[in-house]
Amino acid sequence: MFLAQEVIRKKRDAIDLSDSDIQQFVSGICDESVSEGQIAALAMAVYFQGMSAREKTALTVAMRDSGDVMDWSQENLNGPVLDKHSTGGVGDVVSLMLGPVVAACGGYVPMISGRGLGHTGGTLDKFDAIPGYQTTPDNQRFRDTVKQAGVAIIGQTGRLAPADSRFYATRDITATVESIPLITASILAKKLAEGLDGLVMDVKSGNGAFMSTHEKSRELAQSLVGVGSELGVKTTALITDMNEPLASAAGNSVEVQLAVDYLTGKHRDPRLHQVTKALSAELLVSGKLADTAEAAETMVENVLQNGRAAECFGKMVRALGGPGDFLERSGQHLPKASLVKPLITPAEYHGQYLSAVDTRELGMAVVCLGGGRRKADDRLDLSVGITDILTRGKKVESGTVLATIHASNETGWREAAERVLSALTFSADKSEKTAVIYERIAGETK
Ligand code: URA
Repeated sequence: MFLAQEVIRKKRDAIDLSDSDIQQFVSGICDESVSEGQIAALAMAVYFQGMSAREKTALTVAMRDSGDVMDWSQENLNGPVLDKHSTGGVGDVVSLMLGPVVAACGGYVPMISGRGLGHTGGTLDKFDAIPGYQTTPDNQRFRDTVKQAGVAIIGQTGRLAPADSRFYATRDITATVESIPLITASILAKKLAEGLDGLVMDVKSGNGAFMSTHEKSRELAQSLVGVGSELGVKTTALITDMNEPLASAAGNSVEVQLAVDYLTGKHRDPRLHQVTKALSAELLVSGKLADTAEAAETMVENVLQNGRAAECFGKMVRALGGPGDFLERSGQHLPKASLVKPLITPAEYHGQYLSAVDTRELGMAVVCLGGGRRKADDRLDLSVGITDILTRGKKVESGTVLATIHASNETGWREAAERVLSALTFSADKSEKTAVIYERIAGETK
């Protein structure tokens, strides 16, 4: 007979759980025969005792199979099904470009994304800024959009890994989110339920990342790659820098505009371009659409150059209910803040270099403007945010713009300006520019 307390006791005493212990516990999470207290106790036991590779795989499978697992065979897609997941950051707008880029290169991207968490932005909140865009379409419309546009970016449905929703909600209020086995199973259960052939993980490292150290980011990347590969999905990971925002904008509407400018070739932030290109290339190689990373990067450049990636984005927006002329007139469709004003370098820093950025604090400036949540049920102001964020290593002089702040009023602008200033460190010496992509981790698919 299954007894939740016996499973908890085993893990507490560092005894490995059997696949059946894990399956039955996850079933109990779904049918609510396991209480919130028991979920919390198991989560804490895992937090301290960890899990073996086999246990992590069994937990991922049990959570993935707690809901629908997509099967794309009926669609007769003529390319691989691919997706990316990022552990989250500030100005991390990669998904909005990577999805259409991969679609334009022959892949299919059924991307189920999340809302903002803490100081980091969420892909789904960004799409809410596009009038009419349905982030929760019915299953048929989602599948049709993937088939027609090659990409559909939508929100989580209750039918996808439902065990994770209850498990995560308990972890969130019991200080057990930061457990690598639990994060691995939580992320992969949802991603693998999309029915993927290939997955790339963007694991962030730095002062705006969730993982506190580079070693922890690497441990998480290795865990995700190991379990994903064990379950037959070609999985790779890049560990990328989050010691400053990835893009020059942070906020919802402003990041969508930045993505449109990127896709249409109007403006491409170099760090953002490097990460988008590398992650897209990982997927093209995993999906056998390119033989080498170099060939894949050339394909990415081509679909950006010839407008095919922008076209896929426009098709997706239209298919999911957004304006048909969004690419041409995004400026008219996106919500705009009432007060848009630059923050100019104070005199005391003239002649110095921007040497460090507290990325978390910059993200919090967006939250304080109303662009992120303090409580789970907060309504967002999609128009606010920060643009023209200066990158590290730049010399500042009289008149240099540190950032442009988009606020709903003067008080909000001033508070955000104070936060932005407190997030920036200036010094007489130009600090060494660090890499954007630190490391690549790949696994052996079974
Ligand atoms: N994101 C998830 O989806 N799950 C976690 O456990 C942590 C971050």
